[in-house]
Amino acid sequence: MSILKNYIDGRWSESVSKDSIPVYNPATQEVLAHVPSGPDTTKDVDRAAKAAQKAYKEWSKVPVMKRVQVLYHLKTLLEDNREALAEIITKEAGKTRAESLGEIQRAIENVEVACGTPMLMAGDIIEDIATGIDEMMIRQPLGVSACITPFNFPGMIVFWFLPYAIATGNAFIVKPSEKVPMTMMKIFELLDQLDLPAGLVSLVHGGKESVDALLEHPIVKGISFVGSTPVARYIYSKGTANGKRVQAQGGAKNPVVVLPDADIEMSSKIIADSVYGCAGQRCLAASTIITVGDDKGVIKDALYETVKTRTTGYGLEDVDMGPVITAESKNRIEGLIQKGVDEGATPLLDGRNTKISGYEKGNFLTPTILENVALDKELIKTEIFGPVMSLVHMKNIEEALQFVNNGSYGNMACLFTTSGANARKFRNEADAGNIGINIGVAAPMAQFPFSGWKDSFFGDLHGQGKHAIEFFTQTKVVIERWPNIWSRKF
Ligand code: NAD
Repeated sequence: MSILKNYIDGRWSESVSKDSIPVYNPATQEVLAHVPSGPDTTKDVDRAAKAAQKAYKEWSKVPVMKRVQVLYHLKTLLEDNREALAEIITKEAGKTRAESLGEIQRAIENVEVACGTPMLMAGDIIEDIATGIDEMMIRQPLGVSACITPFNFPGMIVFWFLPYAIATGNAFIVKPSEKVPMTMMKIFELLDQLDLPAGLVSLVHGGKESVDALLEHPIVKGISFVGSTPVARYIYSKGTANGKRVQAQGGAKNPVVVLPDADIEMSSKIIADSVYGCAGQRCLAASTIITVGDDKGVIKDALYETVKTRTTGYGLEDVDMGPVITAESKNRIEGLIQKGVDEGATPLLDGRNTKISGYEKGNFLTPTILENVALDKELIKTEIFGPVMSLVHMKNIEEALQFVNNGSYGNMACLFTTSGANARKFRNEADAGNIGINIGVAAPMAQFPFSGWKDSFFGDLHGQGKHAIEFFTQTKVVIERWPNIWSRKF
């Protein structure tokens, strides 16, 4: 099986590296491709950066109205290829076809928002800031930027950055997760059809070595990262130490509070979708469900009834949930469930040791619900990133908010209630960057920043919308005085 190519300087080319690792279909264990890896991938990064620098010089001079024309073209290409892209995502990442189509839709929406760059990157001007002096702020592109992405959204996350980067006049290098590199191959086939200078967008494969090469390369001025918290922290500290602008979105452990006045039927369906959608491998997956008040049995029973009907299997078939990404991941999740049980939790549903008929080698777990999870133990603090719900109980909203705010992550916190006053209190007091009120996956639309806090984010400006425009531009302030030639006597 051939090794995946890079896309550098406007052409597909083989990696300098002769090392590679296999890419698996997590439902079948079929090897789909081999992806370049190892120390020599740093040479690919160097080639991409040099080509990008050349392309940036040309592209940054193209008027913004012309630059966004390629995004209109990209939008139609994505729309025409959404089924093909969804199939690749399902094959390499395991999620269901509906989930894969959903992520392509969000990618398209980011392209649409970035089409507004001629307005979004407009500057400011004050005439006569002092007599006869005008002052203006203009936005200019950063230069060459790169993004490093995780396995769980192979088609969407790049679009939190790429359309904004190129619309604002930058060149852009993509380093996808080595676990799911094939979606990006297809996306670069589409990018190849756009009227862009050679080198403006590049695809380089690899793992840690290629990431380090991007963090060290003097041409690369901006780094956008999405992945786990330890790696996000590393990327932020190394990238900024090397003088780069860095936005690094990390992991999560998302609490969901259910008040006694919540609409139980609606809440249980939405919460189950949040916990088990994408097999729990979403940075906005609900993980700990906090029931409040005396009626905890009502929501527990409703959740149990909803969850037990969910089907698991190959994402290309008619199922609610696919496998997790790797066998190691499955083992890790099963180990965490066991740890929870050892620490006193009771499994209401236990999804371990699952075999799906016809897909016996797949990395499948069915939904797990753990009750009475100990609040001071590891399971309640660790990002599980699998289809596991932990149920805990608290006396009132104050206690629940204290629990939410004690967590080290701050990606998302949700509340289920029919009380406006409780919703307002929660929205105001919860320490998380994305808040859902009767929403289970509070994923910001493309117009809004993907706003993680605390250990879920390192940096200042998030992905998407106006934050992305600001990230990919640097402000320049110009103060002008012109001699008043008309008042002179000649
Ligand atoms: P990961 O951190 O293992 O990998 C992400 C990227 O970093 C990959 O491209 C990988 O090649 C690279 N990488 C891995 N280890 C590295 C190292 N030691 N040095 C340099 N680069 C390294 O993450 P993952 O397992 O692919 O993705 C899952 C994680 O991503 C979860 O923690 C999830 O919460 C998080 N995530 C966060 C968001 C968000 O917006 N906050 C969105 C999606 C996923």
